[in-house]
Amino acid sequence: MSQRYRIAAILGDGIGREVVPEGLRCLRAAAEAHGFELDVVEHDFACADHWLRHGAMLPPDWKDVLGGFDAIFFGAVGWPEVVPDHVSLWGSLLQFRRGFDQYVNLRPVRLLRGVRSPLRDHGPGDIDFRVVRENTEGEYSNVGGRIFEGTDRETVLQETVLTRIGVDRVLRYAFDLAAGRPRKHLTWATKSNGISIAMPYWDERAAAMAKQYPDVVADKDHIDILAAKFVLRPGQYDVVVASNLFGDILSDLGPACAGTIGIAPSANINPDRTWPSLFEPVHGSAPDIAGRGIANPVGQIWSGAMMLEHLGEPAAAAAVLAAIERVLADRPEVLTPDLGGPGTTEGLGTAIAAEIAWAG
Ligand code: ATP
Ligand code: MG
Repeated sequence: MSQRYRIAAILGDGIGREVVPEGLRCLRAAAEAHGFELDVVEHDFACADHWLRHGAMLPPDWKDVLGGFDAIFFGAVGWPEVVPDHVSLWGSLLQFRRGFDQYVNLRPVRLLRGVRSPLRDHGPGDIDFRVVRENTEGEYSNVGGRIFEGTDRETVLQETVLTRIGVDRVLRYAFDLAAGRPRKHLTWATKSNGISIAMPYWDERAAAMAKQYPDVVADKDHIDILAAKFVLRPGQYDVVVASNLFGDILSDLGPACAGTIGIAPSANINPDRTWPSLFEPVHGSAPDIAGRGIANPVGQIWSGAMMLEHLGEPAAAAAVLAAIERVLADRPEVLTPDLGGPGTTEGLGTAIAAEIAWAG
């Protein structure tokens, strides 16, 4: 009996509806070529249409509906004409992150063949690292408030919350990741010279974790110089781990250094595997180009490769990435307009799927 995986597909809004089908096309080609089965169930919530019909982004029993799947394959959410952005985000993705304890946000930063980096003097192979962002606490705590409102003493406070469990679990994930990579190098982002209570604690926990991983070369960089070095010397990084806010910034900056965010993938991971993890492109629903069949599906397809790796199909994951790279480098006629080509979403997805099927 071949291995069978249950996947919940959520298309969402805008170009999510166009790129998810191409992601699934490539995943099916990989399953066929590598001898496993995918059971895909599409769900029509977490989109503006559901909000219009039901006054909520998700059905009340969403956790039961999704909780039994092996993974969630997500497009993009957001249709600001109909639902305010914070409502669609807090009502869907952030519910999943919290409800399924997806405490790691993982983004590969890798310069592929056929993609030009906006950085001078960088070619394929020069940039290949991973950003690990803490996804559940830290600076995005929602703890704080305003006092003396409307007076000239008006004061606003917002707290950073770090817990030992929350910090250690994301550090452990990052150190494990680094230990499994050839260079075994980890950098933690900090700002302990400015944020004088929270960040020294983060440093302390990271240094303690480093002692448990003697094979991993661990060092720290302050967030300001780290951002500068992403641009000046991106090749020196291997695994970069950061708190929620710093990780949020780095995980957009990194993919931008490796080309366009239209091709970048991301994963929201529950490493303990008590709940499904979620795989989605970095880009949003892009209302400006939605419905025209020209969205780049590569971010979605690459997210599918990350999902295969998480499910335990690393050969299939590598095959998908290799197919993406070959098509980007060798088939300029199928590239979408954002990559400077004349192609369509479906044309590019089909070309990558065919390449996966052909190469196995
Ligand atoms: P969000 O807030 O939902 O994360 P955003 O509104 O900041 O997203 P996107 O929806 O990602 O940004 O889109 C930004 C712009 O980048 C879009 O208007 C679109 O022109 C372009 N873009 C984004 N994704 C793609 C893609 N897959 N293919 C082509 N162009 C894209
Ligand atoms: Mg948006």
